[in-house]
Amino acid sequence: MSRKILIDMVKLREVMVSNPDLELPDALYYPSGNSNGLKSIRELAVFRYTCRRCEDAPCIGVCPTDALEKDEDGIIMRHTNLCISCKSCVTICPFGTMMTDFFKHHRNKDLLYDLTDDDEFEKFIKACPEGTASVIEKEESPEDNIYKLNDRVLIRDYMYIAQKE
Ligand code: SF4
Ligand code: SF4
Repeated sequence: MSRKILIDMVKLREVMVSNPDLELPDALYYPSGNSNGLKSIRELAVFRYTCRRCEDAPCIGVCPTDALEKDEDGIIMRHTNLCISCKSCVTICPFGTMMTDFFKHHRNKDLLYDLTDDDEFEKFIKACPEGTASVIEKEESPEDNIYKLNDRVLIRDYMYIAQKE
């Protein structure tokens, strides 16, 4: 059975705040392929778990190329082929949810690890700042703020849950 990784987005954001110039590693995992360009684990996790899912999403409204839209679950997704990396969405987001390195035109390929490859899986854990990525035995555990992103990646983050009227 493939080993699973836990990425701690809360700690990662703390690292980014205390060291804004640090180039953080990121990972890709596409067991079933992806038709919409290179999406990193952190980008998928941020839009799924950190984004507050604004009803009238300002990030969508400000995007000059219509690169952002909500999927059928209300999760923002970015069309990488349309995005021109202007970062207007990052600036306008009232919750500061996005990590700016998603929007770089040319990301450092040496910092992008393929989690379908066991060697790269181990290298990614080693490359991440201490305490931000680890092998995990357990499954999704919402009481610990741990959620399943896919069959190999779990994410720790404070998920926003809209209150029902
Ligand atoms: S960075 Fe990309 S997704 Fe964001 S507003 Fe600019 S074009 Fe749109
Ligand atoms: S503005 Fe920020 S919090 Fe609101 S939908 Fe867009 S990314 Fe999510």
